[in-house]
Amino acid sequence: MNPNPGSHFPHLLAPLDLGFTTLANRVLMGSMHTGLEDGSKHFPAMAAFFAERARGGVGLIVTGGFAPNIEGWAKPFAGTLSTSAGARRHKLVTDAVHAEGSKIALQILHTGRYGYHPLCVAPSRIQSPISPFTPWALSAHGIERQIRAFVRCAKLAREAGYDGVEVMGSEGYFINQFLVTHTNHRTDEWGGAYENRMRLALEIVSRVREAVGVDFIVIYRLSMIDLIPDGSSWPEVVQLAKAVAGAGATLINTGIGWHEARIPTIATSVPRAAFAWVTKKMRAELRAAGITVPLITSNRINMPEVAEQVLADGSADMVSMARPLLADAEFVNKARAGRRDEINTCIACNQACLDHTFRAELATCLVNPRAGRETQEVFQARPAGRKKRIAVVGAGPAGLAAATVLAERGHEVHLFEAAAQIGGQFNLAKLIPGKEEFAETLRYFGRRITSSGVRLRLGTRISAHDLIALGCDDVVLATGVVPRHAAIPGADDALLRERILSYVDVLLHAKPVGERVAIIGAGGIGFDVAEYLATRPGESPTMNLHEWLAEWGVADPSQARGGVVRARPAAPARHITLLQRKAGKLGKGLGKTTGWIHRAALQMKQVEMLGGVNYERITPQGLYITYGDKRSDGQLIECDSIVICVGQEPQRELLDPLRLANQSTHLIGGADLATELDAKRAIDQGTRLALRL
Ligand code: FAD
Ligand code: NAP
Ligand code: SF4
Repeated sequence: MNPNPGSHFPHLLAPLDLGFTTLANRVLMGSMHTGLEDGSKHFPAMAAFFAERARGGVGLIVTGGFAPNIEGWAKPFAGTLSTSAGARRHKLVTDAVHAEGSKIALQILHTGRYGYHPLCVAPSRIQSPISPFTPWALSAHGIERQIRAFVRCAKLAREAGYDGVEVMGSEGYFINQFLVTHTNHRTDEWGGAYENRMRLALEIVSRVREAVGVDFIVIYRLSMIDLIPDGSSWPEVVQLAKAVAGAGATLINTGIGWHEARIPTIATSVPRAAFAWVTKKMRAELRAAGITVPLITSNRINMPEVAEQVLADGSADMVSMARPLLADAEFVNKARAGRRDEINTCIACNQACLDHTFRAELATCLVNPRAGRETQEVFQARPAGRKKRIAVVGAGPAGLAAATVLAERGHEVHLFEAAAQIGGQFNLAKLIPGKEEFAETLRYFGRRITSSGVRLRLGTRISAHDLIALGCDDVVLATGVVPRHAAIPGADDALLRERILSYVDVLLHAKPVGERVAIIGAGGIGFDVAEYLATRPGESPTMNLHEWLAEWGVADPSQARGGVVRARPAAPARHITLLQRKAGKLGKGLGKTTGWIHRAALQMKQVEMLGGVNYERITPQGLYITYGDKRSDGQLIECDSIVICVGQEPQRELLDPLRLANQSTHLIGGADLATELDAKRAIDQGTRLALRL
């Protein structure tokens, strides 16, 4: 049945009646830690951040996690709600969201043994692999204190004007730690039999419900598949879901995997809606038992059609999206208006959100640098004072961001691109298996170029002479980078040249690559090229859920405890050796939250990784290397092809002639600085410049 005829996404946009209140649609902005929670000085920014998402049409927002007490802190002085004075500060946030006609729940997050501080507590004194602190094992009295803290926090949330709370019971945090024998070795009434281990979850939900009354949303985030070897069994998870519903949960949200799980759950290489089947399985169990509590599904749902599909096929009653709302605050309104092609899609890179959080920086978004900075002066969109004629040279991420913002502010913008399409290096990135999402950013900018009135000229390598002749007020050089040359003896030998390729030759020009490959340079691009060459053409597992689950060893949780089995990766397409000069582990400079995934993926493809090498010479047989300062242990890497991925140099030959002609000229992106360049910096720099010209 179509619940919302005439709508573009009828299931997604259908209201959800919770009995005592109705949500406007099925979009839940999932909880994500932005850093704005940690310190009351950020509350005005947090209020503006959520208000913008509320205005964008989201049905229900969940805040980032707030600890109910000091023991529950994620890190020292993390956001906590434990006093009435604290609750009063939250009024700023709840009022701002309500003024925009949306609803907001506060997430209560007790991190247990994941707490990055010496006061952390847990059911048993067992250190987690992702924290240097060993938790204190709680006494029965200590457990009671934690429950009371949850209840107090929920009551304060109500006092602060929230519409509900989310009790964080998944991802391996405190409540989850009680549920499984992996972390709960207790022998009292809180350990042993499953009824004892799940007691904490039920005590918290039922006592919170009792304290807040019947007309307050209580979401329980339930770990439906732990993805750790001795996680919960499926019957246990189902038993808990039924009991939580009985204890008074209004909604049950899906948690996927503990933080210490070695299976990616939200990175870009995870297929879209990769875990909706788990929620669907749970929904069937609950409905069969006559339990109608609405279920929320989650993870890698980033476009309205994906959300619509999981709702239409009965996987869930609601969809949680966190990062997609960071990327585009207007997501829901655009979906409603039939403008899905204008959505700035979250590409699941984690580079500006989760990676920032793990480095204790405020979260923002690679594709939307305004996110989280809505109150900052520099990000206030202001119309151009005087309409200028501005040329932007290069339609890579930096040029695209600059040109569109400039045109939207009212300037006359001419965008020149040498290639036949926009996107610059993103056209290479999107070819990497597991990075297919990057094409969405190009679709988004393509649409925005049209709507903003940018005058785009493709296939035009513009010269300084022509730029000057155009008579611009300003020229923005976003001409990007050129691959760096590797000065290795033998590299210039005419007989060997055929076998030595740059990453551009491999990815863009599809030059033939042999069976045995040495990749010189193990930065982001070296890793990506290894992934590309190890995967058979057209066999990116990201595009095939069944293959992806097998590759990472994810099983039906009713067949294997925790949903984990032995990984069955596809055979690699080539034998690859990846090399760097630095000693130590390869990939150290990759993303904080995604580097391990890239390393694990290459290990599964049997890529040999060698660090601390000297490139002595390229010979007809392959690449001859030695190790360390002593240049010892000479070794020939026999290979048919050598791919050079040793970084880039700025491309800015237009700069000097333009400046000589007194043309006002600005450099952004790789043209400005190639070192440690990424799309986050390119888009951010392009946006900031365009907001001030
Ligand atoms: P570019 O993207 O290089 O764009 C410059 C543009 O200028 C090009 O289109 C070029 O044709 C055009 N141009 C140059 N000269 C002229 C001229 N005279 N006239 C007209 N046009 C001209 N970054 C990330 O953040 N995350 C990733 O996961 C990631 N993965 C990557 C994977 C690969 C395989 C590659 C190659 C790159 C990846 N990057 C990634 C890097 C990212 O793509 C770059 O940092 C970003 O594209 C730089 O943007 P830019 O606009 O400065 O330059
Ligand atoms: P990079 O990260 O700077 O890596 C360059 C690699 O080449 C390093 O391994 C470096 O290590 C080596 N190298 C540098 N100069 C060399 C020389 N003269 N001879 C031999 N080896 C040399 O650059 P990149 O891999 O080209 O990536 C470019 C940018 O794109 C990066 O800054 C990155 O942020 C971005 N990117 C990001 C991702 C991502 O997943 N986030 C993916 C792809 C690209 P040694 O000096 O130790 O050998
Ligand atoms: Fe999504 Fe990347 Fe933006 Fe995070 S930084 S919200 S993962 S696009």
